[in-house]
Amino acid sequence: MTVAVPQNSATAAIDALLIAYDDLQVAPDGRAIGLDGKDWLDVGTIRDMSAKASLSDPTILEQFKHPYPLAFDLTQRTVPFVDPGRLRNARLFEALYFQTEQAARNSLVTVTEPALPQASFQVTQKRNVACQLSAALAELAASGTDYSAIFQGAGGGFNWRVIAGTTRLSTHSYGIAFDVNAELGKYWLWTGAKEGAVGAYDNVIPESLVTTLERFGFIWGGKWHHFDGMHFEYRPELILYSRILSQ
Ligand SMILES: [Zn+2]
Repeated sequence: MTVAVPQNSATAAIDALLIAYDDLQVAPDGRAIGLDGKDWLDVGTIRDMSAKASLSDPTILEQFKHPYPLAFDLTQRTVPFVDPGRLRNARLFEALYFQTEQAARNSLVTVTEPALPQASFQVTQKRNVACQLSAALAELAASGTDYSAIFQGAGGGFNWRVIAGTTRLSTHSYGIAFDVNAELGKYWLWTGAKEGAVGAYDNVIPESLVTTLERFGFIWGGKWHHFDGMHFEYRPELILYSRILSQ
């Protein structure tokens, strides 16, 4: 059994993907997307299954099931499994980015900001990720706010690895994610919480840092039920989708 996605939401999700990744195309039937005009990826539906089950292999549309909150509001994350951005369709990411570690490695560059020396991250140049991060760091450095503690001992960017406790490839593998200071950011698994029953998130990451990075296409894991407060990830389609819905 499947749950029909409201047509306007499905259209908004596809529109957001097309704006975010301008070489994506929609198949003539409007139900699939692709990059080369022949290998189409079905956008699927939002299936009637538990959030935990869909997490292991979500459809493309299920990635948009819970709109990413544009406001700096951490109340939505108190709802179990409301993790906007944590659902990722592996075939879409392989198509948008890389299928092998070597291909990912060949695209890497280290982004640094002279006025914010603690911030230095190896990310991909593909899809302007490095450019966007560089611009965001420059803006943070120019803001006058002292972010040095947030970037002190930062966890880093590219890392070809699976997500802790899973067999799913982390988005650090594609060079589209980076972690700030882990101690300040905090991670749900380290609290001893059970999946789907994560308690309060005692956040110290400043709103100004999050909103600046969001403006350049990076979502923040602190807005997830399964919070990953050190984690930022290039997902402009999720931010665009929320903007389209809020119009
Ligand atoms: Zn991370």
